[in-house]
Amino acid sequence: MSYKRVLIKLSGEGLANKGKHLAIDYELVEKFANQLKTIISRNIEVAIVVGGGNFWRGTSAEKNGMQRVRADYIGMLATTMNALALQSGFERLNLHCRVLSSLTMDPKVCEVYINEKAKKYLRDGEVVIFAGGTGRPFFTTDTASTLFASEIDADAILMGKNNVDGVYDSDPKFNKDAKKFPIITYDELLEKELKVIDQTAASMAKENNIDILIFDINEEDSLIRAIENKIPNTIITREREK
Ligand code: UDP
Repeated sequence: MSYKRVLIKLSGEGLANKGKHLAIDYELVEKFANQLKTIISRNIEVAIVVGGGNFWRGTSAEKNGMQRVRADYIGMLATTMNALALQSGFERLNLHCRVLSSLTMDPKVCEVYINEKAKKYLRDGEVVIFAGGTGRPFFTTDTASTLFASEIDADAILMGKNNVDGVYDSDPKFNKDAKKFPIITYDELLEKELKVIDQTAASMAKENNIDILIFDINEEDSLIRAIENKIPNTIITREREK
């Protein structure tokens, strides 16, 4: 399928450089920016949902005794920090970019999310980064991705993973015989309880008939090649035959 508007999910952990102890790997951000410039030059609109796991995860803080709702708001702030860092990295390479947050922030920090505004920026060729997840605790940025992809009517979600190139029947990092699915339906994913995305995200993507492409974000030019369907991947879809 040729895409007109895509939503890219970037996990927080994928932005970090553990070797250099950096929460944000600026070289990686530059690589993303260059790829996005190419994608936008092909008249494909790009929205991004960014995670916060490089800074904070609500469930981990809850295990350490923090009230879950408060812990999740900290997580949402973490996604906003990532969004602003991405914006600044993108702008350095003259890529026009807006951060729209589901949490109401001071307007000096970023803009508040309004659906029509997001779509206008996308039509104008600007990258739109959705910050703050869904704006509610007990959700993840995977669910925010399916929510925003539905709201902006994206053709697909491109979900880059760290050193995994698709959906397997067991974890390929621990099982060398793990079998990869070239394509899998949301029903199969839910039934087999495969953990590649959380169940709320999978149910919402199924209901709204949005395909998710899983690929390895660390591959060379992964975003461009994902859009060209020239990278190893798994497609998660509602029905095998469309
Ligand atoms: N979060 C939330 N509501 C949302 C999205 C995120 O409360 O709609 C919080 C939650 O605490 C989560 C954290 O933000 O652990 C970071 O998001 P996520 O774990 O999805 O980031 P990623 O794993 O993609 O880096």
